[in-house]
Amino acid sequence: MIEVTGLSKKYGKHLAVDNVSFSIKKGEIVGFLGPNGAGKSTIMNILTGYISSTSGSVLIDGFDILEQSEQAKKRIGYLPEIPPLYPDMTVREYLYFIYDLKKVKFPKKPHIDEILGLVKIDDVANRLIKNLSKGYRQRVGIASALVGNPDVLILDEPTVGLDPKQIIEIRELISKLGKNHTVILSSHILSEIQAVCEKIIIINGGKLIANDTAENLSNNLSSDRSLIVRVVGEEQEVIKILQSVKGVDSVKSLGKQESNAYDYLLTPQDNTDIRATVFERLSERNKTLLSMQSNALTLEQIFLRLTDATAQINLPNGEEE
Ligand code: ADP
Ligand code: MG
Repeated sequence: MIEVTGLSKKYGKHLAVDNVSFSIKKGEIVGFLGPNGAGKSTIMNILTGYISSTSGSVLIDGFDILEQSEQAKKRIGYLPEIPPLYPDMTVREYLYFIYDLKKVKFPKKPHIDEILGLVKIDDVANRLIKNLSKGYRQRVGIASALVGNPDVLILDEPTVGLDPKQIIEIRELISKLGKNHTVILSSHILSEIQAVCEKIIIINGGKLIANDTAENLSNNLSSDRSLIVRVVGEEQEVIKILQSVKGVDSVKSLGKQESNAYDYLLTPQDNTDIRATVFERLSERNKTLLSMQSNALTLEQIFLRLTDATAQINLPNGEEE
């Protein structure tokens, strides 16, 4: 549905988007995740034909966003970071205005009524936009993206500035829209993306650094087999025992956690699985093991590592089957 190849964008000398390629299949909900300034809005502005790229190409359903812009744009609904709402119009007037602007062919009133119902703003249809809450205004922005029933929805930070209840409502709306649309949304907050997206594209410093499902991202990067164990007993004695376990490379005490029990971080040699040997040795020495947990990275930690310029992690990026 969306095919992006070798996309770059320079603002003056500043390279804001650096040779980004990816493709998105029809019906997918994809999240652009990256810190502020990563280049998310710039890429979205290029995908929607708002600004041009310095190099590279964008195809929407096979139509080039520059060469066949009318065909391509007809297939896209866009919610920019700051939606251009007219505060002195009522919700209905505004959506009629967008309808005219987009030269939509469907019968006007039924089409707009359907969108009002879908986005659940029918109760405020005749209110002035300036009198609406931020959550409702965001819904009006999403409604305007839906005018003309485009296949693709591109939503730039759709939940920014909303309160927790509104965030949940907008998330639910996006999930619902995802059933009939291809959706791309951006956020600098991982949990936001994780809650609604099937696939995650991580962008940092203008570069695409990962493109995968959340599950694969966790699995690929969490081959870390280090363990955190909680053991009853005198700290130095337990450390000696743990150090004597075959396959253990290093032992670090994480301090006292309960009366008489300490946590220890165990790093194995060559990434071996040391769970069984650790358990056996402790029981041989009559030491009580209270808990054992994997120190595998959470998606949050993965994201932080990936977007930390000093971290050296190689990811199979941009691969598509
Ligand atoms: P994000 O949406 O991920 O926060 P942006 O795409 O807005 O990132 O910005 C990417 C980079 O490009 C930033 O360094 C930003 O300062 C710069 N930038 C964005 N828009 C412009 C512009 N119109 N002129 C110059 N620099 C820009
Ligand atoms: Mg942005």
